[in-house]
Amino acid sequence: MDVVFDRGVYLPQFDLWLDSLRKRNTSVVSHAHSDHIARHVRPVLTQGTRILLDDYFKRSEPVELGYGESLETPEYSITLHPAGHCLGSAQTLVMDRRTGERLLYTGDLRIQPSPINEPVEAIHCDTLVIESTYGRPDYVFPPQEEAIGTALRVIGQWLEQGAIPIVLGWRLGKAQEALHHLLTAGLPVACEESVYDIARRYESGGVRFPGEYRLFAGDFRDGEVCIFPPSRKSREQVGQSLPPGKSARYLELTGWAAGRGEKPWGRGRPGDSSLPYSDHADFNDLMGYVQAVRPKRVYTVFGFPDLAAHLRQQGYAAIHLGKNAGPGDQAVQMPLL
Ligand SMILES: [Zn+2]
Repeated sequence: MDVVFDRGVYLPQFDLWLDSLRKRNTSVVSHAHSDHIARHVRPVLTQGTRILLDDYFKRSEPVELGYGESLETPEYSITLHPAGHCLGSAQTLVMDRRTGERLLYTGDLRIQPSPINEPVEAIHCDTLVIESTYGRPDYVFPPQEEAIGTALRVIGQWLEQGAIPIVLGWRLGKAQEALHHLLTAGLPVACEESVYDIARRYESGGVRFPGEYRLFAGDFRDGEVCIFPPSRKSREQVGQSLPPGKSARYLELTGWAAGRGEKPWGRGRPGDSSLPYSDHADFNDLMGYVQAVRPKRVYTVFGFPDLAAHLRQQGYAAIHLGKNAGPGDQAVQMPLL
């Protein structure tokens, strides 16, 4: 199956889009993060993704598929399978009904278990289109328990010092995982508005948090931890709400803390503490996943082109699609097509 990457993954033989960033008649939406969506007429998605994007798709006609349920057309069938990345996140398996060829598009992928996501399923395929956000060998994350253990120790120290701990985590997914970990540790938690709203949507999608949490309404309370998205607006809101004589300390949970400090895009000021905790697969997880699904050919999308180069060294026909593709990606493209 030919694959084109143009602000989304396109399968020309079926005129089918996966995660198109431009509005289409029909496109699969792998998950609810804004860098994977557009206001399609008929987005194909899971129930969890629909719950998270209810307002966004209010003028659309969503086609909801349960995990493992098929959408059949005369030429191909589509099934969605858990991707482990956030509520409702899905890998898409497209099967050519004429030849039986199977193409798997992972969307954003997370292999390590999460307390609140459906666990990832490895799906055997002929052609694999895999994300490579952390597709570089220096992005190998420590065990999650280690990062969470360190986070809880640091937060405990800040509370003892009388500071207000602010955990910074992406508003959809990472923040709710942080919420779950903090509540499991028995800490009282207040959530910034968007984090709170999405946590409630997670509950509508069947996720149970191990304790109560509250909406942050401009009032800090002693002994409490707050969760905010990593943005300048968050810093301003915290700054405006601080009681006299109190200071805030920021703890950032991000996979970028694992590398050499480089980030492919600016994300503002780093936290007082940055810990490598991600809702994406790290380099080893990505390589392991490719081995597990035994594809004949691999296309990498998003992120670093290095993953494709490493896969080629392991004997896979692999190319990186996208603007940062290198000469090696061109060289193997010909025999693939
Ligand atoms: Zn994502």
